[in-house]
Amino acid sequence: MGIARSVPQERRRATRVDRLERPSPCGARRRRNPDCRVIVVKISGSCHCGAIAYEAEIDPARVVVCHCCDCQKLTGSAYRVSVGTRRSQLVVHRGKPTLYVKGADSGAKRAQEFCPCCGSPLFTYDLQNPEKVGLRVGCIDQRSELRPSKQVWRRSALAWSSCLAHLPSQEQE
Ligand SMILES: [Zn+2]
Ligand SMILES: [Zn+2]
Repeated sequence: MGIARSVPQERRRATRVDRLERPSPCGARRRRNPDCRVIVVKISGSCHCGAIAYEAEIDPARVVVCHCCDCQKLTGSAYRVSVGTRRSQLVVHRGKPTLYVKGADSGAKRAQEFCPCCGSPLFTYDLQNPEKVGLRVGCIDQRSELRPSKQVWRRSALAWSSCLAHLPSQEQE
């Protein structure tokens, strides 16, 4: 059973039974966050070359696809998938990401952290308010269990990006 499909059921159970530290099939551990009363799961992640590794707690119901032009450029891809955490719930236990600051017309300064060796995008946050951190889902070990619940900046979405299912498919290259 994947994290995403089991969340509504887990939410109901968690209101009746205090199920702290319940392991999921992938090894992620889920528990009820005493502060915000949502189900959180513990995840692990790393960049492609392995120089940077981290652990965090996330709410698997908050996975978002972003189609903005910045995400397209910064990933070199059609869109980006991220999930939020708090800085206090993120532990980088190996390596040090490089910081790139993206300025916006509004004056906001958005930090983009990536591996200096392999370039994998890892974290993002507002420089003026760094408590909320976005994790790039592609670098999370449990990513196959994280299903987006929302997409933003549809107005710059590449038209084909929401209709891949009809393309001829093969399991490997
Ligand atoms: Zn790396
Ligand atoms: Zn974006």
